Amino acid sequence: MNEIIRNTQSSVTHTSLDPQDWSEFRALAHRMLDETIDGIANIRARPVWQPIPDGVRAAFKADVPREASDLADVYRDFSEHVAPYATGNVHAGFMGWVHGGGTAVGVVAEMLAAGLNANLGGRDHMPIEVERQVVDWMRRLFAFPESASGIFVTGTSMANLMAVLVARTSALGTLARQYGIGNDGALLTAYTSQAAHGCVSRAMDIAGLGTDALRKVGVDADHRMDVAALRAQIAIDRDVGFKPFLVVASAGTVDIGAVDDLKAIAELCREEGIWFHVDGAFGALAIFSPELAPLLGGIELADSIALDFHKWGQVPYDAGFLLVRDSEQHRQAFAQPAAYLRREARGLAAGAVWPCDLGPDLSRGFRALKTWFTLKTFGTNRLGAVIARSCALAKYLETRVLAEPRLELLAPVNLNIVCFRYRAADEVNREIVADIQESGIAAPSSTTLDGRFAIRAAIVNHRTEESDIDALVAAVLEFGGRRSGGVIEVEAPPLAAQ
Ligand SMILES: *Cc1c(COP(=O)(O)O)cnc(C)c1O
Repeated sequence: MNEIIRNTQSSVTHTSLDPQDWSEFRALAHRMLDETIDGIANIRARPVWQPIPDGVRAAFKADVPREASDLADVYRDFSEHVAPYATGNVHAGFMGWVHGGGTAVGVVAEMLAAGLNANLGGRDHMPIEVERQVVDWMRRLFAFPESASGIFVTGTSMANLMAVLVARTSALGTLARQYGIGNDGALLTAYTSQAAHGCVSRAMDIAGLGTDALRKVGVDADHRMDVAALRAQIAIDRDVGFKPFLVVASAGTVDIGAVDDLKAIAELCREEGIWFHVDGAFGALAIFSPELAPLLGGIELADSIALDFHKWGQVPYDAGFLLVRDSEQHRQAFAQPAAYLRREARGLAAGAVWPCDLGPDLSRGFRALKTWFTLKTFGTNRLGAVIARSCALAKYLETRVLAEPRLELLAPVNLNIVCFRYRAADEVNREIVADIQESGIAAPSSTTLDGRFAIRAAIVNHRTEESDIDALVAAVLEFGGRRSGGVIEVEAPPLAAQ
């Protein structure tokens, strides 16, 4: 017995996970920070992306690490096997998908957040006030009332799902949280455009309303929701007894960056008594740019807005956000009484409403800190200038495409996304995209527009310059020439000629 206690006690002194030698740890930690900073500062010396060699993939696989390893060895494993084979979105040549570039400021803010190891589910501590501060800034930028609420989440997929849930509870009443959606819930219908992000449909699925209850309204030539068709569809659904409850408009579609007519949709929603949600995943932060903000006219009328700081906001992943006009409706969709989450008037359990009342998560990290650091350090004017600059670079790429007979523009350039193709078969264009990615010169992505394969360049990274656009164009022409053997099929006239 005594033996057991003695053994337990002696092992207790070794159970802390703190370093046994702080100065050794400190030296290594400083080296990690230095090498992280060097990696960002010298990012152009590296390929944008490189395929993972089979040997690296194999060497990385390991058994469950039951025994301890030296931190230096673990770090070497990371440096050799993980860091060189990342997505590449830190690089100026990354134009694939809508990925933010991150910043050095974001790196250190993440480190500081980890140091506090704060849990932002609730309770009365200053990290929650940091989140509330960012909520207040966003509320002001979008001209929402003081009573608005907001919350950090993983990304816009989650924020859109939460908006569907808030709108659902608002339509059915809070009893639906107890009884389920019932017969009334089965009649709810939601509306978005054919160009909306796929996560809107997934949100309807996860919310238990079903993807069939989401009507995909047609778009015009600029990929904006056809508001007359929306109105007509709502009327048809009402006539047969459905209950239209939600419209999800896009502020920056994922394919070409189109912004729906938010003002017209807001008015229609008001007339119809329908919840008006805006998926502003990347586009909503154009609000930072005085030049671009007018494109978002009407967003201030939304009932809720979903956006990502990790895209155009350049905050490191992940930092999604949901803003809701009516905090009471927001709270009613998620708040739950629980004895262990009792709120008090004073002490650490004070300070309700807590973030756990505003979303599905209880334990939550300190996403707000890296966002607060980013917004304060750069200021929204400078971040807005970065956003405007990426739109100007997209226009520059558009000009290069229109001036080059071997290339064809496939969609109007609204914000920061350019869809084009080499004048050759879809298959050739598919190869061109993969060739460029594997070359490490740039990383475009692809999409399909009107049934045709498009090379898609989304300019999001604050490091991207004209020379990066030139390198992309040169690479498309080079690989296109090689892949098509110099044969150029002339297809439909470019948009410029229409
Ligand atoms: C990126 C994006 C999403 C999804 O956001 P995540 O942060 O990846 O979850 C939704 N809608 C649009 C328009 C997007 O661009």
